[in-house]
Amino acid sequence: MDTDVAIVGAGAAGIAAARRLHSLGIAHVVLEASSRVGGRAWTRRLSTGLFDAGAAWLHAAERNPLVPLATQSGVALREAFGRRRRVRVGNRWATPDELAAFDRAAAAFDATARAACEQRDLPLAEAVTALDTAWLPTLLYFESCLIAAADPTQLSARDWRDNELLGANLLPERGVGTLLARLAPRNITRRTTVTRIRGRGPVTLETDRGSLRARAAIVTVSTGVLRAGTIRFSPPLPPRWQAALHNLPMGLLSKIVLTPREDARLPLAAGNVVRRQLAPGEPGVFFHLGALGARHVVGYYGGPAAWDATDPRKAEELARTEWRRIFGARADAVFTRARPTSWGTDKLFRGAYAYALPGGTEARASLAEPEGALILAGEALRTDGLAGTVGGAWLSGEDAAETARKVIACS
Ligand SMILES: Cc1cc2nc3c(=O)[nH]c(=O)nc-3n(C[C@H](O)[C@H](O)[C@H](O)COP(=O)(O)OP(=O)(O)OC[C@H]3O[C@@H](n4cnc5c(N)ncnc54)[C@H](O)[C@@H]3O)c2cc1C
Repeated sequence: MDTDVAIVGAGAAGIAAARRLHSLGIAHVVLEASSRVGGRAWTRRLSTGLFDAGAAWLHAAERNPLVPLATQSGVALREAFGRRRRVRVGNRWATPDELAAFDRAAAAFDATARAACEQRDLPLAEAVTALDTAWLPTLLYFESCLIAAADPTQLSARDWRDNELLGANLLPERGVGTLLARLAPRNITRRTTVTRIRGRGPVTLETDRGSLRARAAIVTVSTGVLRAGTIRFSPPLPPRWQAALHNLPMGLLSKIVLTPREDARLPLAAGNVVRRQLAPGEPGVFFHLGALGARHVVGYYGGPAAWDATDPRKAEELARTEWRRIFGARADAVFTRARPTSWGTDKLFRGAYAYALPGGTEARASLAEPEGALILAGEALRTDGLAGTVGGAWLSGEDAAETARKVIACS
């Protein structure tokens, strides 16, 4: 046997699993396809400053395992939004009364959606049809397309309810990707793609650089990667996992970095977050100015609009059009460059994070049940309200390490 546990992937779940196995004194190897660690947590150093291409916020900070780890590592955490929230209504900014009405509509959205899915699960869009407010399209786009990265006609209202990340959102001073890279163990084998996994204990992992035998395997790749079949399993994945994967497709949240000219003054100060009141079915782009102290603007767009704009030119057009609608006809001329993320087309991810289809919320727990010595982990497996997040992925990795310990003890 080459090792006790082989971990596939060095994102949050893989790093957490490796740290836990290390503390348990269990031999392990981490195989990562790309040349970097962190997976969907990736802080990029751009000429305009730091940019978190994937996870940026530590959501539900009160119970997020990365909050104490950041603090112990001396990483400062900041409140994510503060008070500088701007909403455009037509060609002017929302008044304080309109912002108060927006907040009341958000509370009504919450209550209506929760009540509607009490008896049976249904798509989030259907759960809020009774709501009579001009803010409904804006709320639906924000809650479903941006937060859950999913089309509201496809997203389970129960899954939305169960993962409605309440509580504080904190930004680590140098980015979430930097934090994960700091927490990652040194001995990760990079540039090694797992292509096939044979057996259920022991397991043989075939990679593009040879094969490895382990008593157990923890596979942390996204549900999108598992669904695509880029890792072949023999025997094939059990039907209960295949059904669960069907119910957990990948949603897409994309970001675009808009780089202003050196001498340009942006219309609002750093720290502002800006969005627009949307018409039914209209996509929007949510702008964050000066995140992590950078000089650039980050735009967010998600759900079907993001899948439609995986072509960088389309993404740029979407973002510039939205910026013009908010700040006026020539306002986007200050931007010299637009760089969108590519999580949807990257074969190592195939989306941003998983969401459950209506009636499919059991799928998360189902994937968390091991199959012999084959153990899955990652953001999609959480049932504690942290699904889709880097904190949830971390906890899933720790749980998987504990499961591996038990599997090994019985082998
Ligand atoms: C745009 C965007 C914004 C987000 N914003 C937030 C946020 O603000 N807050 C938050 O908490 N979460 C956010 N998330 C979600 C968060 O980033 C993820 O939930 C989390 O990072 C997933 O971690 P993971 O370990 O489950 O998976 P991953 O990070 O995907 O790790 C899996 C690893 O497996 C590797 N891999 C894939 N295939 C193979 C193979 N065949 N062989 C070997 N290795 C392989 C991948 O390269 C990757 O490193 C965001 C995600 C995106 C994309």
